[in-house]
Formats: sequence, C-alpha cells, structure tokens
Amino acid sequence: MKATVSIGSNLGDRLSYLQGAVDALNVATGTQVHSVSSVFETDPVGGPEQDDYLNAVVVLKTILSPQQLLEVTQKIEIAANRVRGEHWGPRTLDIDILAMDNEQFETERLTLPHPRAHERGFVLMPWSELDPDYVIPGHGSVALTLGQVELSGVRKCENLTLVVS
Ligand code: ATP
Ligand code: CA
Ligand code: CA
Repeated sequence: MKATVSIGSNLGDRLSYLQGAVDALNVATGTQVHSVSSVFETDPVGGPEQDDYLNAVVVLKTILSPQQLLEVTQKIEIAANRVRGEHWGPRTLDIDILAMDNEQFETERLTLPHPRAHERGFVLMPWSELDPDYVIPGHGSVALTLGQVELSGVRKCENLTLVVS
C-alpha cells in the first residue's frame, strides 16, 4: 500500500524531530520511505498560543495494516519525547496518517483519510509536491483541494531539507 503521513514539530530542535521521524519510518518493520517533501514553517492552527511549526509530508510504501501503521507512528511519537498535554497544544512530534490507498473508514482510534487533511494548507502544500494527482477519498485531488484553502501561514524553508538515508 501507499501510505501518506504528515509530520510536524513546534518544540525543541524541530528539524531534528522531523528527520528522526523520517529515519524511524524508514527503518520500521514493514514500512519504507518512498519520498519526502520540502520543509515548511507554518503558523499554528487551533489550540493555545504556541510557536510556529515545521511541517513536511512523507509517502511510504507499507505492508502494514492501517491499525499497525498507527501503532508504529504512535511509538515513534512517544520515542520523540512527546507528552500528551492540551488538545492541539505544542509537541515535539506529531505524525498523522493522511491516507492509505483508497481506504475510507472511521473507527474509534483511526479515521482515513484524516478528517481535517483536506482543509489544511500546511498538509496540502507539501503533499502537492509529492502526489498532486492523488484523489483524497471523499474529496478532490490534492492539487484541486490545495486551491481551496488559505496558504498565507505556510512558508517554504529553502534552507532546510530532510534526507532519506
Ligand atoms: P488533529 O488530528 O486535528 O491533527 P492532533 O494531531 O493534535 O489533532 P492527536 O492528539 O495527535 O491529535 O491524536 C488524537 C487521536 O487521533 C489519536 O490518539 C489517534 O487515535 C486518532 N486518530 C484518528 N485518525 C487518525 C489518523 N488518520 N492519523 C493519526 N491519528 C488519528
Ligand atoms: Ca495533527
Ligand atoms: Ca496526531
């Protein structure tokens, strides 16, 4: 399956947390990193007043089920010292599963595609670099959806890059 995830950080060494997430996703059993977007600095959306985020999107190849991939991503978040605080509050690392192939379902622990992905500039901008023609189930293509959201708080960081090792 193709799985697309967003990674974000707004606490501590943000770029190192994102690079650590790319590395961990690549070495996790059953997943391999296929491509990684540019890094974007983004104004926080929702939650308390907090520092700006660094965000990126990663496309994976995986043989894991959606539930298994969620377990992997949550373990990586915990290993990155993520502390559960206020809803939408600051965090060292957030990994959201945006979509997996054409999966469309909602359970208590996991909703695919991610229910807010299609309305977030900080998700759609990096996603459109990697997979603009992908049709988000229940919505339009990533490129089309990108044209319908506010992008003023999303700035590409030309001097920051993530690598796949
Ligand atoms: P948002 O989901 O609006 O981006 P958030 O990332 O801050 O907010 P979290 O506290 O990280 O929210 O996650 C809350 C719960 O969301 C997780 O415990 C997880 O079970 C659930 N969840 C549901 N669908 C997904 C998904 N597609 N990817 C990641 N987590 C999901
Ligand atoms: Ca999130
Ligand atoms: Ca999350």
